[in-house]
Amino acid sequence: MGKIRLFIDHPLAAGQPVPLTDGQAHYLSSVMRQGAGNEIAVFNGRQGEWRARIAALGRKGGQVDPVAQARPQQDPPDLWLVFAPIKKARTDFIVEKAAELGAARIIPVQTDHTNAERIRQDRLQAHAVEAAEQCGGTFVPPVDDLQSLVRLLDGWDAGRRILWADEALVGAARTLAALPRGPWAVLIGPEGGWSEAERGRLRALPFVTPISLGPRILRADTAAVAALALWQSAAGDWGDAEAPQD
Ligand code: SAH
Repeated sequence: MGKIRLFIDHPLAAGQPVPLTDGQAHYLSSVMRQGAGNEIAVFNGRQGEWRARIAALGRKGGQVDPVAQARPQQDPPDLWLVFAPIKKARTDFIVEKAAELGAARIIPVQTDHTNAERIRQDRLQAHAVEAAEQCGGTFVPPVDDLQSLVRLLDGWDAGRRILWADEALVGAARTLAALPRGPWAVLIGPEGGWSEAERGRLRALPFVTPISLGPRILRADTAAVAALALWQSAAGDWGDAEAPQD
């Protein structure tokens, strides 16, 4: 069994006990059969991973005592995922996988063919936290609330390039050979794909690079995973990843 890792939204310092949520206390005691004195790992998204001793554990709530930092903070490369939400379970999947694949920020957008009118930002954020807990990450990508793609592009900082997955390019020979360094975002459309108006706008933006994701049309969730993996491999932190510990 892997070690227990919990995200605790609280500053971490040796000897300064931090509270557990009711859900975490329940998970530790009832699911993981832990008790006072046991050691777990905690992280808060900013200060790396810490060894922490369970100081108190009840049905509701509890406390852990951070002992020492075990690993330094490791932030992902500056890559955002901008995607059009789809059905609930698949949207959850996209957020989970984006957190695992090292997205630094996750921005759901409403596009011309997006079916979703609202999202549960808190739920999606919780999925990102869970993914970080499970994949050994010390960073949790913030998940934004749903916003319109048009408005997002209106306020876009031209210094951040966009890798735009366009299904109209299915099968086109576009490679990722030379991606300039610097901040990027991956942009994935909804099940209904891009509208011609969106294509026109995106094609006209100088910081947008259209890409094909191969000879088959992928579902939006697959496309998000594939594009993030491509970027990480070509320009991200896959090349200089540390060997996993323990
Ligand atoms: N309904 C559309 C497909 C949408 S797929 C159609 O049948 O044409 C959902 C999103 O995944 C697309 O908007 C695009 O961002 C991405 N995507 C899927 N397959 C792709 C491919 N082969 N190349 C580039 N992008 C792709």
